Amino acid sequence: MSNQDYSVKQLIEMEACTLCRLCADVCPAVSVSKDAKLSGTWRLNSLRQILKGRAGFLPALFGAKTPSGDELGDFSGTVFRCTLCGNCQEVCPVGINLKDIWVSLRQDLVHSKAYPGKIEMIRENLEQSRNVFGEDNEERADWVEDMRDAPDHGYLKDKADVVYFTGCVAAYFPLAQKIPMALAEILETGEVNFTLLGEEEWCCGFPMLGAGLKEMFQAFMEHNLAAVRGKGAKELIFACPSCYQMWREYYPPEIKISHATEFLLHLLRENRIPLRELPMTVTYHDPCDLGRGARVFDPPRDAIRSIPGIKFVELPRNREQCQCCGGGGNLEMIDAKLSAQIAKRKIEEIMSTGADAVITSCQQCVRTMTTYVRRNKVPLEVLDITQLIHRAMKK
Ligand code: SF4
Ligand code: SF4
Repeated sequence: MSNQDYSVKQLIEMEACTLCRLCADVCPAVSVSKDAKLSGTWRLNSLRQILKGRAGFLPALFGAKTPSGDELGDFSGTVFRCTLCGNCQEVCPVGINLKDIWVSLRQDLVHSKAYPGKIEMIRENLEQSRNVFGEDNEERADWVEDMRDAPDHGYLKDKADVVYFTGCVAAYFPLAQKIPMALAEILETGEVNFTLLGEEEWCCGFPMLGAGLKEMFQAFMEHNLAAVRGKGAKELIFACPSCYQMWREYYPPEIKISHATEFLLHLLRENRIPLRELPMTVTYHDPCDLGRGARVFDPPRDAIRSIPGIKFVELPRNREQCQCCGGGGNLEMIDAKLSAQIAKRKIEEIMSTGADAVITSCQQCVRTMTTYVRRNKVPLEVLDITQLIHRAMKK
C-alpha cells in the first residue's frame, strides 16, 4: 500500500476542498440512494484521512490511523458505487479534477486488495478474450452477418480512408448492435471508404480505468494502434463516447479522431445523406463522456435538427448539467439496483418533456435506458443518433 497511485497535482487538489458539498447536491448516486457516503465530498475527505494515515511519519504528527481491512472494504464499497459521470467535477468551485481522482482511487483500492469481486471477472475477460465480456474476439464483427445487404467484404478491408472502431458493447450486445449496423449503412450511403478492425480490435482500455486496472492498458493501446496503422487510414471514428475519450486522452495523437455525431454532421452538411421527413418529437440525452467529457454538445443537436419534420425539445437538465443514465463507471456490474434507480430518475425527467423518443449518442446509454423502459413498460422509444438518422434516410 502506498500513495503512489496519485500524482502530486492530485494530492495538492485534494487539500483544496472547501467542503462546500456542491458535488453532493448534483450526484445522481446520492440523489437516488440518499446515502451521503456516495458523495464526492465524503469520498475525498475520507481519502485524505487514509492517505495521511499511510504516509510515513505523518500519522504520528496528525494522529491519523491506518484503516483496518474492514474499514477499507466499506470505503471501497462506496467508491465503486459511482457512475464516473463527472457531474461533481463540473460544479466544483475549486476546479478539482474529481473524475481523475476517482479513477486513481479505484486503482489504489485494487493495489490495496480492497475491491469488489467483479473486478477479477473484468480482469480475466480482458486477459483471456481481449474484450470486457469474455466473448470470442474473433466474433467482434459478426453483427455484420445480421445485416440485410452487407457487402461481401463484410466491411473488413485491408486498406481504407476511415477506420470505424466499434467498441465492446456495440460489438457483442444484440440491442447495441443496431448502432454499428445503422452507422455502417449510413457510411455506405455517404460513400465513405471505411473498414472495421474485426478481431484485430481489442478493448479500448476504458473498462480497465473504471476497474482500477490501468496497468493492463499499455499492451491494449499498442495493439490497437498497430491495427489502425496497418489500415493506412486518415481518420478514426467512434460511436462510443468512452472509446472516443480513451483515444483522445490516452493514445498518442497520430491520427484524426471524431465521434460519429461530428462525422455524420459533416456528411449531412455535404448533403451526402438524403433525408426524408420524420414527424417525431424528440429530446436528447448528453452521454457523460461525450458531453461533459469531450464538450461535444452542438453536433448531435445540429444533426437532429437537420432532419425535416423533427420537433426537438431539451431536457430540463441538459448539456453540462445533463444527468447520467446510470450506466457509467461499471456501476451496472457492481450495483445493478443503484444503476436502475438512476435510470428511473432519468426516464422520469425524459417523460416530463412529452417527447416520443429520447435520442443519445452512446450504446451504453441506449442499453441502460432501454432496459428500464422495457422492464417497466414505459411508452418511450430510446434511439442512438445513428439509428435516428438511419430511420430518416431515404432508402
Ligand atoms: S462522478 Fe457522478 S456518480 Fe460519481 S461521485 Fe461524481 S457526481 Fe457522483
Ligand atoms: S464541490 Fe469541490 S470543493 Fe466542494 S465539497 Fe465537493 S470536492 Fe470539495
